[in-house]
Amino acid sequence: MIKIEKHIINKLDTIFSGKKNIVIIFHSNPDGDAIGSGLALYIILENLGNQVKVISPDTYPKFLEWLPENKNIIIFNKSKNDAIQFINDADAIVCLDFNNLDRVKDMATYVANSKAIKILIDHHPNPDNFPDIAISETSVSSTAELLYQIIKHLNYQKYITKEVAECLFTGIMTDTGSFNYGFNPATLIITSELLSYRINKDEIFNNIYNNFSSDRMRLMGYCLNSKLEVVPKFKTAFISLTQNEFRKFNYQTGDTEGFVNLPLSIENIVFSVLFTEQRDHVKISFRSKGDFNANVFAKKHFNGGGHKNAAGGQQYNLSIDETISKFKKLLEKYSKELS
Ligand code: 5GP
Ligand code: MN
Repeated sequence: MIKIEKHIINKLDTIFSGKKNIVIIFHSNPDGDAIGSGLALYIILENLGNQVKVISPDTYPKFLEWLPENKNIIIFNKSKNDAIQFINDADAIVCLDFNNLDRVKDMATYVANSKAIKILIDHHPNPDNFPDIAISETSVSSTAELLYQIIKHLNYQKYITKEVAECLFTGIMTDTGSFNYGFNPATLIITSELLSYRINKDEIFNNIYNNFSSDRMRLMGYCLNSKLEVVPKFKTAFISLTQNEFRKFNYQTGDTEGFVNLPLSIENIVFSVLFTEQRDHVKISFRSKGDFNANVFAKKHFNGGGHKNAAGGQQYNLSIDETISKFKKLLEKYSKELS
């Protein structure tokens, strides 16, 4: 169990157990950990008698649409007026799975200006100091794992239902790439406790990993066959995708999930990158194996951040080709770290 100071737990208990208006938010392009921990906390806080709203900055992948209560998620982009009202009226805003307000995109100013108490629960390094109460713990696999421990500290075990366990299991499973990386002994103990709620882990696995369209499969094939560039000298490989290519393969939110990991299975590759052309910028995902600090690279050159081995960033004001040129030049600078 991680240690959390008693006065922080007491403050959280006062907020959570008192008929409050609570808004739960997480980062844009939300993944299984963001949505899973968001919905788990939603179910618990509602059962404690609060009025709870879960607001996502933007849409989430179809492979998460089976999660309990997911239909209650408000998409900021689509229901801006309502969402702003909820943010303004909130007594507390719980920020999950991010630690820098830029990560909630257009929601950031409304969150910053709300008079609500801001609570951070997150596992990324280098948190900003916007929250009033922060539980920032990088040793855990996921926000879901951290949230489970906080629930125990709060003595809210009786609010853990099968549905809550499904949500938390999903967060841990997706953030560890199905228990492939980024977990520790405590993760497996917690996962085992979650399984004791008789959740159907095989069904959850199938919902998430075996539920894609054939278009997505062909897009993956196209990436590997035609778009993969390997730079052996710098132990790096990358893939890029343009809007045109997305259209050709009938792209749906979440279709590129996992693509950035594929080049890491090539022998000797330690740094893998996925560039995707967005409406007004290029989104970049970074993955590394071993000691290369993907988050430092992302923060320094692409306005991003994340974990050592999994990070992201974005490039505005350059085309996707220019962004890739910039990236290739940077590799030269990092030749020492990459060889
Ligand atoms: P992904 O490549 O899956 O979008 O993100 C990988 C990791 O990096 C996640 O932990 C995510 O939260 C983090 N990340 C992605 N984009 C950004 C960004 O723009 N800024 C920061 N600080 N973290 C990011
Ligand atoms: Mn996470």
